[in-house]
Amino acid sequence: MKPIKHVVIAGGGTAGWITAALLNKVLGKVINITLIESSAIGTVGVGEATIPPIIQLNNALGINEQDFINATNASIKLGIEFENWKTPGHSYMHAFGSLGKDFPFCDFYNFWLKGQITGCEDDLWDFSLNYQAAKQHKFAPLNTIPNTQLPGLSYAYHFDATLYAEYLKKLAISRGVKHIDAKISHVEQCDTGNVKSLALDNDSQISGDLFIDCTGLRALLIEQTLNTGFIDWSHYLPCDSAVAVQTKSTHELKPYTRSIAHRAGWQWQIPLQNRIGNGLVYCSRYLSDDDAKQLLLKSVPAEPITEPRIIKFKTGRRLKQWHKNVVSVGLSSGFLEPLESTSIHLIQTAVTRLIKLFPHNGISDALVTEFNKQSVIELEHIRDFIILHYKLTEREDSPFWRQCMQMDIPNSLTHKLNLFKHTGKVIREDDELFAEVAWQQVMIGQGLIPDDYNSIVDSLSDDQLSDLFSTLKTLISSTVTQLPTHQNFLASIKKV
Ligand SMILES: Cc1cc2nc3c(=O)[nH]c(=O)nc-3n(C[C@H](O)[C@H](O)[C@H](O)COP(=O)(O)OP(=O)(O)OC[C@H]3O[C@@H](n4cnc5c(N)ncnc54)[C@H](O)[C@@H]3O)c2cc1C
Repeated sequence: MKPIKHVVIAGGGTAGWITAALLNKVLGKVINITLIESSAIGTVGVGEATIPPIIQLNNALGINEQDFINATNASIKLGIEFENWKTPGHSYMHAFGSLGKDFPFCDFYNFWLKGQITGCEDDLWDFSLNYQAAKQHKFAPLNTIPNTQLPGLSYAYHFDATLYAEYLKKLAISRGVKHIDAKISHVEQCDTGNVKSLALDNDSQISGDLFIDCTGLRALLIEQTLNTGFIDWSHYLPCDSAVAVQTKSTHELKPYTRSIAHRAGWQWQIPLQNRIGNGLVYCSRYLSDDDAKQLLLKSVPAEPITEPRIIKFKTGRRLKQWHKNVVSVGLSSGFLEPLESTSIHLIQTAVTRLIKLFPHNGISDALVTEFNKQSVIELEHIRDFIILHYKLTEREDSPFWRQCMQMDIPNSLTHKLNLFKHTGKVIREDDELFAEVAWQQVMIGQGLIPDDYNSIVDSLSDDQLSDLFSTLKTLISSTVTQLPTHQNFLASIKKV
């Protein structure tokens, strides 16, 4: 058991710099941190949409929000609109935040379900403050709906991940992280199989006690050196390629991500302050790279400002996220497609987990097992949530969608779907990332309407139910009316 005093981070993409900044912020007084990256190799260069917990990461790092928004060309994200996923022409939103007003032991959507039976014509998203603000392109930070205890807007950001990494790089270096720009040409191991040092192409050798593999899809330490193994999930999530291109902005700055299903995958549109990030995630069995490029270029909202770039990936996870004295963080630890913008979040949780389980006095098998156990639980829940979008399609217009509709899914997801269909219940397991309200929106959005609802709802008469609905709708619409536009909100930040 060798005390861990020197941590070496291999790779300086979003994963490397989040890891360096957070480890340094929390443990900087007790460990030394060195980060090695190769500017000649570069980063994957995509990844622009995030989810609300990024605000906690920035807070933990002591980052000022306005400064961050300006430095990364960020815009606000209130949710993701899924277009053409259920059927062509249909759309719904996974909006962040809550729906209506939950009652003790009874989530709001149960009231809405009963309303559907009693002839109420309201849409579920009429009760989502986030959805209403998103569609009207409105935003301001709002903790609660004024004069109520109902939650306000929950938000995340669209941003330039490369600028974010640069921002964190400056921060981490100013706080004491040692930075080396060189290519790792060889990984030296001890007799135990542990990594001993990294040989660099500038002829230096960097040794360390714990190594964090942030080398992206190359997985230089965890896989190329330690041969840790990979669990393939491509039978559940068959997309294996993406093509990305940036375009000029359009006049409207939407405060939400668009996810538009196509015949063999889906397209993202992510508006930043200065440009739009676009891409197509697709299954190469049904769409060639050339056709994917053409399809994307035909459907982007404005003139391209970069060349389309193809990225290949395999969906799945590393057999062990932590193996010997190497912890994998970021794309080296596995890949889940960016449908719910979870990758940067997974970096944040991996580093948080590492800090909580940090092996100050040496690496013990128990710590490693615990880290790996928590990682698997987290990843499998997110995997199931992503599969859900594909499985619940009603599209039969292409072989890709027919495959998705018919494919086997994990037992854990089958159980969730059955529970919801037969009883209307959604249970959040093991503190999983996506809350009940997220599952409810995607399941209902894709057309899975439960056969039953929580009978607590029957304690309200039909008149009370109708009053509840109209009060909530009035509150939401008057709140949204008073919000500034998203564009004006960002302009007000620029002035500061
Ligand atoms: C198509 C696509 C879309 C995505 N969209 C989103 C999204 O919307 N939201 C989201 O949260 N995530 C998204 N992601 C994921 C996101 O891009 C990554 O999680 C994130 O950028 C982290 O990447 P990384 O740092 O692990 O790898 P990389 O960015 O690839 O960084 C790897 C680093 O390792 C260094 N390196 C590699 N080999 C060596 C070597 N031999 N010597 C020295 N240095 C080396 C490189 O120079 C680089 O610094 C997306 C991913 C893809 C593929």
